[in-house]
Amino acid sequence: MKKYSVNKFKMKNILLLSFSLFIFINIACSNPENDLNNFLTKKEIQYEEIAFEIGDAYWNFYSAEAEADLKSPKQKFYNLLHNDTLNTLINTWYPKRNEITDTILQRRIEKWHLVLLSASVEYDKEVMELRNELEEMMEVSGEKDNSNYDFDGKMLELIKLRNQKSIELGYDNYVHLSFETNGLGYEWFMDFVNQMGKLTYAPYNNLVEKVKDENNTKDFEQRNLFQFIGQFYGNNDPIKVKTKDNIELVKISLNNIGINYDELPAKLVEMKLPDGVGGQGLMINIPNDFRAVMTLGMDISVWMHEMGHGLHGLFNSINTPILEGYEWIPGNANASFAEGMAETSAWFSRNIEWQKKYTNLTEVQINERKLIANKYAPAFIRYHLYNFMRETELYLNPEKDYDEIQKELAKKYFLIDSEKFRTQGLKNIIYVSYPLYLQNYLLADIVACQIHNTLEEKFGKDYAFNKEVGAYLIQHFYSKGEYYDWNKRLEKGTGKALDINSYLDYYEIK
Ligand SMILES: [Zn+2]
Repeated sequence: MKKYSVNKFKMKNILLLSFSLFIFINIACSNPENDLNNFLTKKEIQYEEIAFEIGDAYWNFYSAEAEADLKSPKQKFYNLLHNDTLNTLINTWYPKRNEITDTILQRRIEKWHLVLLSASVEYDKEVMELRNELEEMMEVSGEKDNSNYDFDGKMLELIKLRNQKSIELGYDNYVHLSFETNGLGYEWFMDFVNQMGKLTYAPYNNLVEKVKDENNTKDFEQRNLFQFIGQFYGNNDPIKVKTKDNIELVKISLNNIGINYDELPAKLVEMKLPDGVGGQGLMINIPNDFRAVMTLGMDISVWMHEMGHGLHGLFNSINTPILEGYEWIPGNANASFAEGMAETSAWFSRNIEWQKKYTNLTEVQINERKLIANKYAPAFIRYHLYNFMRETELYLNPEKDYDEIQKELAKKYFLIDSEKFRTQGLKNIIYVSYPLYLQNYLLADIVACQIHNTLEEKFGKDYAFNKEVGAYLIQHFYSKGEYYDWNKRLEKGTGKALDINSYLDYYEIK
């Protein structure tokens, strides 16, 4: 009996132990954070596979290496992003994300939240269909007969649809939703626009008054504005570049800052592309596959810009797809920072020491060109403000006539009499495929300026030839992907948040 009872006791203990072990393993396995992590990992693997597919399709679209099928990967994104379990899980975890101890997991939830939010507009069935239709009608080499197609009407329809979907989600309109998902924030952005407008008004007005005096007229005309813009661009980018081989010069420029192009999984191709297609850099697999194709005769700064997108992706070592920042779903990557990385690379070709070495310009000429660029920079900045605000206003006031919007903004930013201002239609592929994207190019110029100031402070005036510079860029700006917010990345690498005043100082705008 006793023996039995001991045995029974032992048995009971063993059973109890294994039962607790079972429970323990089970708890460990069904720890909600683990479940979440496992589920998101599975979804991110699928997400990344579709990103590869769409990247490859766009590569074919631009390089004509093979037939481009953009529709099927988009449909796959649609299916993935409308997955109920995924949406429920993110909706449940997003409000209590701060309870999660694993900060990478926490950030993944934030990114998923933004991706799903922007997808509920951009990948809404109606929006997607209309967008596909417009893209098909605008394709450069498209076979569709578009002679009777009402681009402006259809574009307005798409704008209203994007607004309507945003309102259904509790936002005032698409601008508010879009600026939440792009990481800038509506309030911050509007404040930025106001500040830039105010700070450039007086120097721009001086330019305008001078032209009126010189021409002895009381009207400042659109063609005068185009001359300003032309002067800025003509003097800001390097000319008389010694070598005609752009790809070679990209490699040399990278090598100068300690980055060996030949060790990178990157492919740069220069070839004649159909008219109207300049080229494109594509981060197909982050961090393992970057390709850029460009048509003949593009400037070195354009090549350096695209290569900058490449460096940003190729040195990303975060190793979790949603934090790698694929560009295909708005809200995944911070686009103004991504464009900032591209421009940071392009700015090496605008560096005075770089120009001394790789162009046939004398130092005097280089300095003179910089002064001319400075002089017209207020016009360049206000041209950007006009350009992205006319699209923004369309979403803010969809009932307002687009011509009216452009004329009002021309008066505000260009000081051009509205009656004489020639407006443009809505047929613009960027409005269709990259809604509310254009502000990123102005922000990118500011980001690049700030980073180059820091590089000069840290590495001296010859920083474009310092082998440690590449490592600095990698460590502070590329390696962590989307783990930190864009402003935090700037702070970590430059010591401050976006700095408008230093930017205006660079162009000597007072
Ligand atoms: Zn770019």
